[in-house]
Amino acid sequence: MLQAPESLLAPAAPMEPPFPDADLMHVVDLLSPRERARFSELRTVLQRDIRPLTPEYWNREEFPFGLLPRLASLGLGRLQTDGSSRLFTGLAYMEMARADVSLSALVGIHNELIVGMINDLGSPEQKARWLPGLQSLTELGAFALTEPEHGSDIAGGLATTATHDGAGWVLRGAKRWIGAGTIADFALVWARDTADGAIKAFIVETDRPGFTATKIANKIGLRIMQNADIVLDDVRVPDGNLLPGATAFSRANELLRDSRAWVGWQAAGIQLGAFDIARAYSLERIQFGRELACFQLVQQQLAEILGNAHASLSLMVELARIQESGQLEMVQSAMAKSTTTRLARSSVALGRSILGGNGITTDYEMAKLFGDAEVLYTYEGTYEINSLIVARAVTGKSAFV
Ligand SMILES: Cc1cc2nc3c(=O)[nH]c(=O)nc-3n(C[C@H](O)[C@H](O)[C@H](O)COP(=O)(O)OP(=O)(O)OC[C@H]3O[C@@H](n4cnc5c(N)ncnc54)[C@H](O)[C@@H]3O)c2cc1C
Repeated sequence: MLQAPESLLAPAAPMEPPFPDADLMHVVDLLSPRERARFSELRTVLQRDIRPLTPEYWNREEFPFGLLPRLASLGLGRLQTDGSSRLFTGLAYMEMARADVSLSALVGIHNELIVGMINDLGSPEQKARWLPGLQSLTELGAFALTEPEHGSDIAGGLATTATHDGAGWVLRGAKRWIGAGTIADFALVWARDTADGAIKAFIVETDRPGFTATKIANKIGLRIMQNADIVLDDVRVPDGNLLPGATAFSRANELLRDSRAWVGWQAAGIQLGAFDIARAYSLERIQFGRELACFQLVQQQLAEILGNAHASLSLMVELARIQESGQLEMVQSAMAKSTTTRLARSSVALGRSILGGNGITTDYEMAKLFGDAEVLYTYEGTYEINSLIVARAVTGKSAFV
C-alpha cells in the first residue's frame, strides 16, 4: 500500500513571517536595486498611511485633497517623466490599487493620459505652463473623451464640436464620466473640428465661461474619484490651447492603448488587496471553534484569489517587457485589460464570500473592492469591447456591428 509522505501528514508549520507581501513569483526582484528600494518605501507608505484612511472617504464619496502632497512626495505625479521603467511604473499602479482603487485611478489617469499627453503631444508653451504643477500634484487635469450618447462607439460617434471662428476655437457639446472633472484645473477635451471632421484635443481650463462640471453621485464603485458630467456651452479657447500633436484620433488610440495596460495593473492590485483582506479575516474569524483559514473550502478560495492575482500580474509583467521595447500594440493591451479585469471580478466575489455577512458592509473593506472591480471591468473600453478588439486582431473579422 502506498504511504503518504510524512510531510503531507504532519500539521503544516505556521508560516513565519506570515506572508506579508504575497509576491509569490518574486516579481519585485526584476527591478533594479534603486527601483526596488523605491518600491518598498511606496508599498509601506501606501499600506500604512493611505489605505486606512480611504474607506471613510469612499463611503462619503469625498476626495481626500490632503493626501495629494503625500502622494506627490512618493513621486506619483511624475511617473511618466522621471525615467522610471515600465515595470516599476506598473508595479506602482498595482500597489496604489492594492491600497485604494479610486486613488490608483487618479494616479493612473494623471500619468498615462494627462502628463503623458501633454508631455508627448503638447507645445513647448503648454509643457512649461502645466507640467510643473502636474508633476507635483498641485494641479490636476481631466481626460474628457466619453460623451452621454457615445461610449463604446466614441471613435466614430464623437459629437462634441470645435469650430475656428478666426479669433480662436469655440467648443460645444457634452462629456460624461470624466474623472476628476469637478476638481481639475483643466480638461483635455476631444472634439471634432467642424472644418475638416478630424478629432482634436484641446486644453480647456475649468474656469472658462460656458464650462460646467456636475458630480455624478451614487456610484457603486470608485466613489473617491469625482466623476463628472461636463457641458461645453460655446466655450472659447485660444489657438494655443489646441494640442499640436493631437490632431487626429489615432493619437488618442495610442494613449488608450497604454492606459488600457494601466487598468491591467489596477486589476492585479485589486486582487492582491482582496487577498490581503480575505487572508487576514480568515485567520481571525472563528467558526466551529476554528479559524476560517482551517477549512479546506476557504483555503481553496484563498488559493484561487492568489492564483488569479498572479496570473494577472504575470501577464502584466510580460506586457511591461514588450512596452519597454516599444512593441506594445492594442491587441496585447486589450487582451491584458479584459483578462485581468475578468479575473478581478471573480477574485473579489470569492473574497466577499470569505467575509460572509461582513463582506456586505464597507466597514470591512472587501465590499469597497467589490464595487470598484465593476468599474475596472467597464472603463477604458468595456470587457466586451476589448474582447472584440482581441478577436478582430486574431481572426481578421470585425464583429463590432
Ligand atoms: C467610474 C467611471 C470612470 C470613467 N472615467 C472616464 C474618464 O475619466 N474619461 C472618459 O473619457 N471616460 C471615462 N469613463 C467612461 C468609460 O470609458 C465608458 O463608460 C465605457 O467606455 C463604456 O461606455 P458606455 O458607458 O457609454 O457604455 P455603452 O457603450 O453604452 O455600452 C453598454 C454595454 O453594451 C456593450 N456594447 C456596446 N457596443 C457593443 C458591441 N459593438 N458589441 C458588443 N457589446 C457592445 C458594452 O460592452 C456594455 O456592456 C468612465 C466610466 C466610469 C463608469
